[in-house]
Amino acid sequence: MPIKRDLHSHSTHSDGRLTPEELVIHAKHCGIDVLALTDHDTVSGIAEAKRYAERHGLSVVSGVELSVRWVNQDIHIVGLNIDEHSQHLIDVLKEQARLRQDRAVKIGDKLAEQGISDMYQAAQALAGSHGVTRPHFARVLVERGICKDIPAAFKRYLKRGRLAYVPTQWVSLADAVSAIGKAGGQSVVAHPMRYKLTKSKLGRLLTEFKLLGGDALEVISAGCNTQEIHHLASLCRQYGLMASTGSDFHGPGLSYLPMGHDFKLPDSCTPVWSIW
Ligand code: AMP
Ligand code: MN
Ligand code: MN
Ligand code: MN
Repeated sequence: MPIKRDLHSHSTHSDGRLTPEELVIHAKHCGIDVLALTDHDTVSGIAEAKRYAERHGLSVVSGVELSVRWVNQDIHIVGLNIDEHSQHLIDVLKEQARLRQDRAVKIGDKLAEQGISDMYQAAQALAGSHGVTRPHFARVLVERGICKDIPAAFKRYLKRGRLAYVPTQWVSLADAVSAIGKAGGQSVVAHPMRYKLTKSKLGRLLTEFKLLGGDALEVISAGCNTQEIHHLASLCRQYGLMASTGSDFHGPGLSYLPMGHDFKLPDSCTPVWSIW
């Protein structure tokens, strides 16, 4: 049986619905052998995931998904096979957490201007001891009956340019790639099709990423069709990047791709795990 890998997933330590323990059990149930936990801007769930992985006979790869500000937009860079104890990385994550917290307060203020009060407190309560993400705000908007579902909450309030959108000076692409590299990991451009970049802008991103020492491209990711997978595989060759694969799992029924989906990369790709 080929080894099944899912190298992009979230837990309750960011915007996922399952705790690291539940996530590991779910992955095992879906037939995953190797799971990367890649929470947004935090590595705090990794120890728990690893503890349970051992118990359930599954291998957990230490990961993180960094929010990056690049040319006035947000890009996600996944770090895989990192040392989550890297002091430099921890310092970067501390600053990201501060930015996230400031942003959450500002999102709350913007929603208050729209007549929706106490949203920061409610979103923070949902996030518990972890950082507040936009999906936490979306969930509260749905729970209060203000929006019909999470996509609707993003569309009306939380997406770029909408009523409660707050632009954030996340870490730069250069500093993100450098922090992942210093932590001994590989950096991966997450879900490249989701940014809706023009061909030339995506080319510019990949050129810069490669020059900065970036390693790989997520060739298989949520919402990609076969044609896009082959296009991304050809971009890997063109820019000299390895390839990764992941569902971007956030919880049962919440992701575009279920865990355990057939994650076979095109033969032309060099898998990012080939150097592990
Ligand atoms: P944040 O890191 O707090 O800005 O939250 C980003 C997360 O919000 C992404 O990782 C997705 O899980 C989720 N997200 C972003 N855009 C949308 C959308 N249009 N609809 C639903 N969820 C979204
Ligand atoms: Mn997310
Ligand atoms: Mn992402
Ligand atoms: Mn993700």
